[in-house]
Amino acid sequence: MLPVIALVGRPNVGKSTLFNRLTRSRDALVADFPGLTRDRKYGQAKYDEYEFIVVDTGGIDGSEEGIELEMAEQSLLAIEEADVVMFLVDARAGMTAADQAIANHLRKLNTQKSIFLVANKIDGLDADSSCAEFYQLALGEVYQIAASHGRGVTQLLETALQPV
Ligand code: GDP
Ligand code: MG
Repeated sequence: MLPVIALVGRPNVGKSTLFNRLTRSRDALVADFPGLTRDRKYGQAKYDEYEFIVVDTGGIDGSEEGIELEMAEQSLLAIEEADVVMFLVDARAGMTAADQAIANHLRKLNTQKSIFLVANKIDGLDADSSCAEFYQLALGEVYQIAASHGRGVTQLLETALQPV
């Protein structure tokens, strides 16, 4: 069985862009409008020597009270189904209350799953200083990528997956 990677995070952090890069498809809707991808979307990916299933989600709106209740149902299901959860944040926008709410939820999950905190959109930024604040989310290492350019993606997969 191929490992399943779920992409979660608040809207507009670049989940669908990463999904499209990993699956080399244009299927996932990429837009500047938050929350446009409503349903879980599955893709089979072969990226370098890595083969896996990747699940795109519409994004979690953590701005309301009670993240456990408010987390989009499909994001929760995607997390349940996954072997690996990639939690994307936006290095350009910086840390938001929604990011903190999602991180709190992920830290509370009683699970064996590996969770990777991924700071996207590092292109054109001083990546280390832009990403430093995300260590406050207390999810360990902050992996730096630019999904739209591919920077950092192979290194992230190397850490998250074993080669097939
Ligand atoms: P989603 O809502 O999390 O699925 O985010 P999208 O994939 O739809 O991307 C939201 C916006 O961020 C789009 O305008 C993307 O082009 C842009 N974006 C995604 N990845 C990157 C990146 O690595 N660098 C930059 N500069 N923009 C990005
Ligand atoms: Mg999307």
